[in-house]
Amino acid sequence: AKTVQPRTAVYDSSMARDNSAQLLLLSELTTAIDQHHLELYYQLQVDLTAMEAVGVEALLRWNHPVRGLIEPDSFLPMAERTGLIRPLLDFVLTQTTTQHLEWRREGIDLALSINVSTRNLLDTTLVERVRRVLDAGMDPRMLTIEITETSSMTNPPLAIETLAELRRLGVSLAIDDYGTGYSSLAYLQRLPVQQLKIDKTFVLDMMTAPAHRVIVRSTIDLARTLGLTITAEGVEDLDTLMELKALCCNYAQGYYVGRPVPAEEIPASVSKLNAE
Ligand code: C2E
Ligand code: CA
Ligand code: CA
Ligand code: CA
Repeated sequence: AKTVQPRTAVYDSSMARDNSAQLLLLSELTTAIDQHHLELYYQLQVDLTAMEAVGVEALLRWNHPVRGLIEPDSFLPMAERTGLIRPLLDFVLTQTTTQHLEWRREGIDLALSINVSTRNLLDTTLVERVRRVLDAGMDPRMLTIEITETSSMTNPPLAIETLAELRRLGVSLAIDDYGTGYSSLAYLQRLPVQQLKIDKTFVLDMMTAPAHRVIVRSTIDLARTLGLTITAEGVEDLDTLMELKALCCNYAQGYYVGRPVPAEEIPASVSKLNAE
């Protein structure tokens, strides 16, 4: 039931720019998808009002037989350039929604967020592929698709159209890494999104860098004005968590709440967090 297209990936013209190390990585990644060396980790998101775990974000990991665990920033850019990002998204969609159904059967009710790259967003088959996992039983109200500010601006008419179609399927949409792109308020207002995620660069040091605290505070205010819910990522300590709560931020995500972990660890982490 796999849909890997290694041949098309290998002959992509952008490969001319790549060195041999990248080529090796590419062929290994192609095999990795085939051999199930890719895994999804999950990071909890907490509701700052109820102080309860309400969701997870799925984050890709590559269990390389020799190099060990490889983080997505080291292989996603290449997957994006070569078109491998498409089978990767299918892997993420299938894997995460199956996992989500399993958690629901165990009585664990968490919303699920997944990341979608620029090339995925501009892929005209995206909506159909999301519809497929919804048809297989994923509740659209429990699914959030995260797109970065930058990818929403690569081809605005197409992005807006695709987002509107996804929205009609009933899934939620989030702007990821907010604050790192250059999108204007006017532009953001045209996107049918429901959530904003403040980039971790502003959150990490907001208690010591006044300029970053101001950015976080005004982003929260802006999001509220636009009727968006807001998640702060990169929350690494209790002080930051409490400050975000005081600023009326809706959700927090970060090492303080929980690191990205394999799916098996999620039920215990939820019980622990909700008991505190
Ligand atoms: P992102 O979507 O912004 O994900 C958040 C990143 O911040 C994750 O890095 C996470 O491990 C890290 N993080 C979470 N909490 C903290 C914290 O408290 N402090 C610090 N310093 N970092 C924290 P990760 O897992 O390495 O992922 C990097 C990026 O790769 C993601 O950034 C996302 O853009 C991309 N990515 C991950 N999985 C996927 C995927 O399945 N598909 C696509 N297209 N992109 C993915
Ligand atoms: Ca994300
Ligand atoms: Ca992010
Ligand atoms: Ca990021």
